[in-house]
Amino acid sequence: MAHDETPGGAAFLLEAAASRSIFTPEAFSEEQQMFFETTQEFMAREVMPVNERIEHMEEGLLPKLIGKAGQMGLLGIDIPEEYGGLGLDKTTSALVGEAMVIQASFAVATGVQTGIGTLPILIFGSDEQKQRYLPDLVTGKRISAYCLSEPGSGSDALGAKTTAVRDGDDWILNGVKQWISNAGFADIFIVFAQVDGDKFTCFVVENGFEGVSTGAEEKKMGLKGSSTRQVILEDVRVPGANLLGEIGRGHVIAFNILNIGRYKLGISAVGAGKYALKHALDYATDRKQFDTRLVDFPAIREKLARMASIIYATESMGYRLTGLLDERIERLDKRDPAHWKHAVDVIKDYAIEASILKVQGSEGVSVVLDEALQTFGGYGFTSDYPIEQMVRDSRVNRIFEGTNEINRMLIPGTLLKRVMKGQLNLMPRVQAVGAEVKSGDAATPPLESDDPLALARFMTEQAKKVCLYIAGAAVQKYMADLDRQQELLMVMADMIIDVFAADSVVARVTQRVASIGAEKGAPQLALARIVSSEAYRRNAERARELAGHLAHKPMRMVGGIDLLAPYVPLDLIADRRLVADHLVNAGRYRF
Ligand SMILES: Cc1cc2nc3c(=O)[nH]c(=O)nc-3n(C[C@H](O)[C@H](O)[C@H](O)COP(=O)(O)OP(=O)(O)OC[C@H]3O[C@@H](n4cnc5c(N)ncnc54)[C@H](O)[C@@H]3O)c2cc1C
Repeated sequence: MAHDETPGGAAFLLEAAASRSIFTPEAFSEEQQMFFETTQEFMAREVMPVNERIEHMEEGLLPKLIGKAGQMGLLGIDIPEEYGGLGLDKTTSALVGEAMVIQASFAVATGVQTGIGTLPILIFGSDEQKQRYLPDLVTGKRISAYCLSEPGSGSDALGAKTTAVRDGDDWILNGVKQWISNAGFADIFIVFAQVDGDKFTCFVVENGFEGVSTGAEEKKMGLKGSSTRQVILEDVRVPGANLLGEIGRGHVIAFNILNIGRYKLGISAVGAGKYALKHALDYATDRKQFDTRLVDFPAIREKLARMASIIYATESMGYRLTGLLDERIERLDKRDPAHWKHAVDVIKDYAIEASILKVQGSEGVSVVLDEALQTFGGYGFTSDYPIEQMVRDSRVNRIFEGTNEINRMLIPGTLLKRVMKGQLNLMPRVQAVGAEVKSGDAATPPLESDDPLALARFMTEQAKKVCLYIAGAAVQKYMADLDRQQELLMVMADMIIDVFAADSVVARVTQRVASIGAEKGAPQLALARIVSSEAYRRNAERARELAGHLAHKPMRMVGGIDLLAPYVPLDLIADRRLVADHLVNAGRYRF
């Protein structure tokens, strides 16, 4: 396995699965594990017992809990020590998010506080602004909110209408911001406004500034404990010292901060999934029907295995990404005045992976929660058990931090931009796949191999090739017009997401089995087959469906797909049984 330079974004499409080691949960340090457990204890002791009160928006409760999290250091995980934080890595920060998500309203409030409400100041603020705001945000003494969306502009964030007009050294802000999380109790608002009509610019606005007010609480389907309101700005005088970054560069702040929010959302979905799986497993173990425990019905076991495979895939993808970020950020010189600019460049390099995690996490957790609810039968539909609230709370994950449609389009869109800029040498791979198809030789699945991962690796590589085959055909047909072919881009995104999932799982299981052996690693090997076969089967199906649209001679293209993805005989029922047995024996998700 290669250990040389850290691969850049989307390198997984170029490199063979498991050809280089990746960071995995098995490599969490004691300190990372300790922060996860401390956060779990905090949630169990301070937050979950008051879930009902949070959901009824008891006045002052959420700010108080945020303050308690701050006292424990949980709001300053990746903030430098000089501003009162702990200066730890992205992996630890993601782990804390994973543990907090079990009370989603609290998790959104702290997620805004530590992410979109703090990072703009940390990354783009002046020294004076950092000193002025960060220490209080890290302790939770002051609470922040992020004001990008407006009634008329959500996905089209740069179409915002809020204005900022210079008046001497100050700025006068006018406009309405929509859907602002934490608005009901925030002290500090990160506000985006237009200067001179179209110079998108960021400001720090304090709640005490005259002319700042908030609308009524939105009546939401879920996240009922989270404050979501309009923030109304009427002739608000903002000192010049509160301009964040540069005039006309607000989009750089907005989009880079969202990249961080996206991968963190994906990883927090892992925490929600594990929590729901544990509840479903416990319930299915206790409840009997037909004199049989639910957990002993194969149909229920299959659900549990399905939930576990989605969680395992998302977890493998998420921590692989934080590992890459940490490795690259660790190498930067912290004393360099441009340190944060370089750190942002690193995160931007993995924008494709960040969008992949946003979509994978938010949609994966929907499936996991749905299966968990079904396992509870009628009781799952009531608020006596936690799944009902979790289902409602999780739906918005597909809407905020960029809708899943926007994120899906960003995945192939950013990929093509990286190829054009010469940052990703994809074309030789696309051409090699074309040549392989032209040769007329069918790929041969390694059915007789002694290597227990040979088949999973084969399916992952072929799923990648099918994806590249379609990408080549799509570029050839549409060239520069490809970015307008949204239906095509959405399918291409799904193909890339599945490839990243299979590639991450195969790499992780390869490392795990090298350490514990194939016998003990049998459940993980089953997971590798399940996840890679899904990518393999789904990508071939998607490609066949697109052939009619992309090719002059669709049957010839389908013939090419058949060569790349021949039938592979697998016993996935046995594999899912193995995973479910492991879950039931362990009594929880533990791989
Ligand atoms: C509970 C909650 C909390 C939130 N918190 C915050 C916050 O703290 N700060 C903040 O700034 N915002 C926040 N938001 C706003 C959120 O980011 C937006 O709702 C989101 O960006 C979508 O914008 P929209 O609602 O205006 O939908 P629209 O942009 O109108 O989208 C509607 C539909 O059209 C699709 N669509 C839009 N554009 C395109 C396109 N170009 N191509 C194809 N399809 C498209 C979308 O995917 C979606 O399906 C929050 C929202 C909610 C619900």
